[in-house]
Amino acid sequence: MTVNLAQAVREVLPSARADLERLVRIPSVSADPDAAPQLWASAFEVAGLLRGAGLPEVDVVTAGDSRPAVLGSRLGPPGAPHVLLYAHHDVQPPGEVADWDSDPFEPAERDGRLYGRGTADDKAGVAVHLAALRAHLGASTEGLPVGVTVLVEGEEEIGSPAVRDFLAAYADRLRADVVVFADAGNWSLDVPALTTTLRGGTGLVVEVRTLDHGLHSGMFGGPVPDALTALCRLLATLHDENGDVAVAGLVRGTSDSPEVAEEQFRAEAGLLDGVRLTGTGRLADRLSAGPAVTVIGIDAPPVATASNTLVPVARAKVSLRVAPGDDAAAARDALAAHLRAHAPWGARVTVQAGRAAAPFTARTGGRAYRCARSALEAAWGTPAVLAGAGGSIPFVTAYAGLFPDAEILITGVEDPATRAHGSNESLHLATFERACLAEALLLRNLARHDD
Ligand SMILES: [Zn+2]
Repeated sequence: MTVNLAQAVREVLPSARADLERLVRIPSVSADPDAAPQLWASAFEVAGLLRGAGLPEVDVVTAGDSRPAVLGSRLGPPGAPHVLLYAHHDVQPPGEVADWDSDPFEPAERDGRLYGRGTADDKAGVAVHLAALRAHLGASTEGLPVGVTVLVEGEEEIGSPAVRDFLAAYADRLRADVVVFADAGNWSLDVPALTTTLRGGTGLVVEVRTLDHGLHSGMFGGPVPDALTALCRLLATLHDENGDVAVAGLVRGTSDSPEVAEEQFRAEAGLLDGVRLTGTGRLADRLSAGPAVTVIGIDAPPVATASNTLVPVARAKVSLRVAPGDDAAAARDALAAHLRAHAPWGARVTVQAGRAAAPFTARTGGRAYRCARSALEAAWGTPAVLAGAGGSIPFVTAYAGLFPDAEILITGVEDPATRAHGSNESLHLATFERACLAEALLLRNLARHDD
C-alpha cells in the first residue's frame, strides 16, 4: 500500500495550526518568575495535545527546580529505531509591547505569516511534531513506523539551567538512536537547512570602581576618573578597529556554510543605511564559526535622573558566543582575563563569571543525515544546505555528551525573517507546512531498511 504522506500532512495541518495558536496564547515566559503558572498551564496544554496525537504515555515532569517539561512516548514496531523529537514550550519575554504590530500573545496572520511570541521559536516545533505524529497515526496511514519520545522543554530560553539534572533523572526515557531538535532555522524561504554547528554561550558581569563615593564633577572632574567613563573605555577594548573581537585566546574558525548575501543579510537584520557590518572575513564565518562579544546591559545612573556627579561604580553584562571547537569555560576565562588586564587608569575591575554552555559540532555522515536530507529535499523540492548557526541550544550539547552514539539532527521551522526573540516574531506558514511534511517523511525514511 502506497501511503501519500503529503496528503496526510495536508489533512492534519489545520489542527496543528490551531494547536500552535492555542499554545501562543499562553504567555509561557520562562525568564519571568511571575509567569510560573503560565509555564505550568503551557506544559499541561502540550501534554494534552501529545496524548490527543496518539502518545499513550505522557507526563509533565521536572528535575530539581526546573520549569515543567513534557515527556511523551510511544513504542515503535519491533526492531524499528527510536527517535527523540525535541522542542521547547517556553518563550522569550515580549519586550516592549508597543514595538509589536499586534498583540504578542494573540496570534495574527498577515501576508502568509503568523505573528506572535513563540509562533516560531519554538511552539512551531511542538506543532511540527504533532503534525508528523498525526500524519502517521491517522486513519489513512499505516501507523507510526518508528518508536518516538517527545520532549518539550520548559526553560530553553533561559539557557536550560537544569539540563544536567534533567538528563540524569530521565536518561532512560530520553535514550534514542536519532534526535530531532526542531528549534533552528532554514536557509531561506526556498531552501531548507540542517544546522550542523552551534555556538556555545557564556558571559560575565564586570564591575569597575574608581571612588568610594560620588563626587561633584565641577570640583573634582578633570583629574579624577569616574567609573562609568572607565567602564566605557574598558568595554571599547573588546573589539579592534575593524570590529573583530580583540580578546586573546578565543577560537575563530571557518564554516562549511555557503556564504551569506550581504545585501539581503543587511535587510533582514534591519541595519540602518550607512551603518557598516563589523569584523573581517566571510560573513558566514563571522555568524557561526567565530566568537561574538556583545555588551547587553549596563548599570549606571539613568539619563533622566543623571546629576553632574563622578560616578564611583558602574557595571556591565557582557555576552560571549563561543565558536565551535572552543571550550566555553576557557573562553569565558579569557574574556575575564582581558577585562582585568585592560583596566584603564588603574581602576578596580572585578568579574562575576556566568555559566558556560559548550558549542556543538554534529557528525553529519550517518544514516539519519541521509534520511533527513532526502526528506527535506522531497518536502521542499530542493536540496538542504548544511549550515552553522550562531545561537546555542544547551540541551543539544548536554545530550550529545551523555549519548555520544545518537545521531543529532537540528531542523528548522524558522526562516531568515522570523525575528525570533524580537518584536513581531513570525512563522512563515508555507515553511511550516514543509517542515511538517519533512518530519513525517524523515520518520518514514528512518524506518526503511533499504537506505
Ligand atoms: Zn528556541
